[in-house]
Amino acid sequence: MPNLTERDLLRLATCDVELQVLITKVAKLTPLMVIWGFRNEDEQTAIVKTGVRALPWPKSKHNNLVDGEPCSLAVDLGILPLEWKNLQHWRILASYVWQEAIRAKTDVKWLGHLGDYGHFELK
Ligand SMILES: [Zn+2]
Repeated sequence: MPNLTERDLLRLATCDVELQVLITKVAKLTPLMVIWGFRNEDEQTAIVKTGVRALPWPKSKHNNLVDGEPCSLAVDLGILPLEWKNLQHWRILASYVWQEAIRAKTDVKWLGHLGDYGHFELK
């Protein structure tokens, strides 16, 4: 049974198709939430203003456009229930993403080493 909600799927649809395929597979392994796919200029600027580690528009991989259409090269995920301070959760999530990425031969980078635990991006 797919555990992604309509909201998750809409967010995932703003991502590069390689990420869409990958995250759909990961969602079969663990309850998952898609927190961000593509971010437009207003959304990116708002995030930067909160002081979290984020690049200004349009430098983030979340800001990628192809022919004017959202095609995010990054996705922010969380294992449900969301426990932001549960490092074990984030490591488990990363291991699932890598497991599927290796199978699909998709090159994915996790920004966990920078404290951005939910962030996965295409290389
Ligand atoms: Zn991100």
